[in-house]
Amino acid sequence: MKLPRPHLPFFAADDMDKRPFPAWEYHVHSLFSDGSSSLATLINHARTQGITRLIFTEHTEPDLVDGPDWFKPYWREATRLRLLEKPPEKRKKASSSTKGMEILFGLEVPITDFGGGLLMSAEMAEKAEFILGAVHAYPGYGWTMGDLPPEQAIELEFKGLMALAENPRIDAIAHPGGICEKFAAPFPLSLFEEVVRKATSNGIAIELNPAYQEPLAPYLAVCRRHNALISPGSNVHHLEQIGRASHELSTLQNKSTLDRHRHPQHQRVRAACKN
Ligand SMILES: [Zn+2]
Ligand SMILES: [Zn+2]
Repeated sequence: MKLPRPHLPFFAADDMDKRPFPAWEYHVHSLFSDGSSSLATLINHARTQGITRLIFTEHTEPDLVDGPDWFKPYWREATRLRLLEKPPEKRKKASSSTKGMEILFGLEVPITDFGGGLLMSAEMAEKAEFILGAVHAYPGYGWTMGDLPPEQAIELEFKGLMALAENPRIDAIAHPGGICEKFAAPFPLSLFEEVVRKATSNGIAIELNPAYQEPLAPYLAVCRRHNALISPGSNVHHLEQIGRASHELSTLQNKSTLDRHRHPQHQRVRAACKN
């Protein structure tokens, strides 16, 4: 049973019709893993972009992090930066341009097997404020997905995603189907939908990530069918990528509102079907 984490609000897909998609960024890498900027630089840039919640998701693979003992300095710097943030009572009084931004320090953790194994130490599991579960190298096969027959790559990715979708330590699933899609073969939307169904029933969010899911609209449509919890992630490795996912989601949202205004007959047919 997943512990409730009220401090980790996601966006319910049903709300796409009710409120604007917020300026959140939930997938960011800094110099502590394979990103190109420091935590402080990323935070400052996110603030200038109007981001209201920023979540760092450093890799845990040893070849992607800044040395074998990277986690301690990451946590020290995270703690220092958090102390610099204004206390909440001051935030309320501040004008909108100087308003505080909520920042969480998390990890992007790959599976190590198909039975719930995750690549992180006990200290990471205890401290990380957000666990973005990922299928990266396929367990038992490494980064050989490009050499696998497409059906096998699809099957392995799907198995890994389903393991994440029932893992109570996971808050959101990174780029579902994206590794297969990028390196091996198109990942069937029907399997993406099965992952969404399972994750949603377990209170685990689905990342919508334009760096992997191109175009994003069909993935959003599946999330809407199941009222999935959406985690907007842009796989940020460079400053200018901050906010891309939430920006694309709000563009899709505006487009669907416009379409409804342009084709009001669709609404009438739908209303008639409901009655
Ligand atoms: Zn990833
Ligand atoms: Zn990533």
